[in-house]
Amino acid sequence: MPLIVQKYGGTSVGNPERILNVARRVIETQQAGHSVVAVVSAMSGVTDSLIKLARQVADKPTDREMDVLLATGEQTTIALLAMAIHSLGSKAISLTGAQAGILTDGIHTKAKIANISPRQIRKYLNEGYICIVAGFQGQTLQGHITTLGRGGSDLTAIAIAAALKAKMCEIYTDVDGVYTCDPRVVPEARKLETIDYDELLEMASSGSKVMQSRSVEFAKKFQVPFEVRSSFNTNRGTIVKEEPLGLENVVVRGISIERNQAKVTITNVPDKPGTASRIFTTLAEANVIIDVIVQNVSMSGTTDISFTMNGDELEKIGGMLDAVAREIGAGEVKRQKGVAKLSVVGIGMRSHSGVAAKLFECLGHGGVNIQMISTSEIKIAVILDEVKIESAARLAHEAFGLSADA
Ligand code: ADP
Ligand code: ASP
Ligand code: MG
Repeated sequence: MPLIVQKYGGTSVGNPERILNVARRVIETQQAGHSVVAVVSAMSGVTDSLIKLARQVADKPTDREMDVLLATGEQTTIALLAMAIHSLGSKAISLTGAQAGILTDGIHTKAKIANISPRQIRKYLNEGYICIVAGFQGQTLQGHITTLGRGGSDLTAIAIAAALKAKMCEIYTDVDGVYTCDPRVVPEARKLETIDYDELLEMASSGSKVMQSRSVEFAKKFQVPFEVRSSFNTNRGTIVKEEPLGLENVVVRGISIERNQAKVTITNVPDKPGTASRIFTTLAEANVIIDVIVQNVSMSGTTDISFTMNGDELEKIGGMLDAVAREIGAGEVKRQKGVAKLSVVGIGMRSHSGVAAKLFECLGHGGVNIQMISTSEIKIAVILDEVKIESAARLAHEAFGLSADA
């Protein structure tokens, strides 16, 4: 029987009624003649509550124990969904990440999948069971429980679909598919029928959390086509696959926003080899992820270097940059919270010009000041004041004609 992997996110399994709804959908898929693996997330809000709970007993809980704790969220859902399916008269079995054969490296809280041995899944599918697999978790060779980073159930589903060569992987969530922008921010956003892996990857890694970005990277690498759709209706969703670059490629496919960013500027950095390296090596050693970097043209032997990072990480770098600035003979270190990033994405940008000009023009007319700019082959991103981010997204959405009735 052809295999379908389905993934149900937190909202889709958010209460007993919704778990029963998922049970019915999974059973219908099996009755339509498919083998079914259902990957599930923790019920909505559970992972966040567990993180809060941990912080109430320890300032800095270890990553290993965090993983043991967080994995319980998904474990609750697999058991409840299996019970719900039993109550409706079908065969189902729950499997933890380890039981499903998901082997990871030992980087707790953001482990990478090293291998999948889906022997048990295959055995149960052959016996007619619906397999319910806990998303977001795996285990190391030594048997330690690991988790795959926030939103990691998407990755579990894509990886299992790849390992079992599933006919289709369906990602069920609380929206009908991938939209031209987060519909909570731009109500006129339009559902896309298809999107290319590279486009969704750029959108996901620049703030569109409809899919975890690592899962899209994995899907591209192993050419797993998948569909993002809603668990609350039967509408067709968005098909994600490799798009051949053709004449019809739209220039701008979508817009992403990322809030809660911080901007750091180091002034009067001596313009000589090794100074940038000294700054960014220090940040890398502190495991701080840096996003946009801008260095000004050198004036009289010194320059200013600015970069952005996640706002919550700003405290993590403490006085470390002041020390580096002193050491290299630079000026002051200015920190600014409350900035955000807006990205305009589309593979058509590879062969079209004028996108940057149009973006800057619409933001300028709307009175939105651009603080930093960064580009890739298929993306233009700008750093803005966070209070302006929603209006900026609406301006750009309109300027690029992305709305349904455009
Ligand atoms: P799940 O719990 O099912 O994994 P998520 O909350 O992780 O769901 O992702 C779904 C949410 O992603 C939607 O509710 C929507 O607000 C948000 N989102 C952000 N950008 C987009 C986009 N471009 N298209 C659709 N949804 C988006
Ligand atoms: N429960 C995890 C999280 O909230 C994983 C997931 O939902 O995909 O991040
Ligand atoms: Mg998600």
